[in-house]
Amino acid sequence: MKFNTSLLHTVKPTKEDHGATQPPIYQVSAFAYDSAEHLEKVFNNKAAGFSYSRVGNPTVDAFEKQIASLEGGIGAVACSSGMSAITALFLSILQSGDEIIAGAGLFGGTLDLLYDLNAFGITVCFVDTVTAESVREKASTRTKAVFTELIGNPKLNVVDLERVSEVCRQLHIPLIADSTTATPYLIQPLKHGADVVIHSSSKYINGGGNSISGVIVDGGSFNWDREKYPVFREYSNFGKFALLLRLRNDVWRNTGGCLSPFNAYMNLIGLNTLGLRMERSCENALKLAQFLDTLSGIEVNFPALPSSPYFSVAQKYFGGKGGAILTVRAGSKERAFKLINALKYALIATNIGDVKTLVIHPASTIYTHCTQQQRASAGVYDDTIRISVGIEDIDDLTEDFRQAAESL
Ligand SMILES: *Cc1c(COP(=O)(O)O)cnc(C)c1O
Repeated sequence: MKFNTSLLHTVKPTKEDHGATQPPIYQVSAFAYDSAEHLEKVFNNKAAGFSYSRVGNPTVDAFEKQIASLEGGIGAVACSSGMSAITALFLSILQSGDEIIAGAGLFGGTLDLLYDLNAFGITVCFVDTVTAESVREKASTRTKAVFTELIGNPKLNVVDLERVSEVCRQLHIPLIADSTTATPYLIQPLKHGADVVIHSSSKYINGGGNSISGVIVDGGSFNWDREKYPVFREYSNFGKFALLLRLRNDVWRNTGGCLSPFNAYMNLIGLNTLGLRMERSCENALKLAQFLDTLSGIEVNFPALPSSPYFSVAQKYFGGKGGAILTVRAGSKERAFKLINALKYALIATNIGDVKTLVIHPASTIYTHCTQQQRASAGVYDDTIRISVGIEDIDDLTEDFRQAAESL
């Protein structure tokens, strides 16, 4: 199956669901059994079945299977948010004394979380962009994970996955990719050497801006040996399933960041059109970036523009596309605010990946409690506007930005 077909035909109607053409919403907390013996078996993994929706639910299960299949992973674990996915993953592999190498141009919430982990003895070594060279230079015996966004939000730096993963493999460090902004439409990171992929599925996967959720997809490629990763204990014996078992039986289950069946259903609906939406949004983003590039007094940052330092890497992995987010610098905070306020269609909102175009001034919102230095390394300046490009008619979008820029 090619991409769009697989979005529609991976999860098939079943007899148990009466042939329902979409997995139904199992909006229940618990599942009843015919005998105490049967429930005992389900609890002890001796029989298949669902017991309690924090631990497993058929609608959530269908979503996990769909995402795992799209990414080419061996399994997925759905979470209540993207942040809860990143948290559950880190807490499942790390312990006090460990270090993570991460790119500095990360999503604001992830940056904040990495600082939160300091209190538990987990430290972070930030590099400007995760590259083969920076990982090799910074890695130590304490380094237990490399974490990067594939297209940094909002820096829009693109990571050369294959080169980075080669070094990670040599050093026996797992490469974790946050592929939220790229989506499986642009790249399947596990096929290019990443070991684990996470998504904030609140964004493009859902697509309608109607549910917060996250997901962890395991490629099963990393060897979680218990000498280097003591928290894995007996799970190390389960080979490529070690991480999924560790997540499902320990931290993910116990911290309780499960996805609600209703939100899983909304994501499944959204996934049907991921390919069409991304095709249109990426095309719109490129055209809008090219248009804004012709205006004086506005500086455009977009990976598919030759002026981007990440142009060649983006071409290599995304074949001419650059994703659906761009940032512009308007010259000053006042001009940025004026431009934002003059837009008729773009909504002023802190989100990305909606079918509607969204704009935000990151310095005064998502990055408001970061230092000037942290902002600069995330590509956020006083005059930066982030634009998450939707699926509107491009002529309306360009006209809207034209009149807004003229008002400056
Ligand atoms: C939004 C986002 C997150 C966090 O996801 P939530 O669903 O908001 O918790 C993580 N990474 C990236 C790249 C994001 O854009």
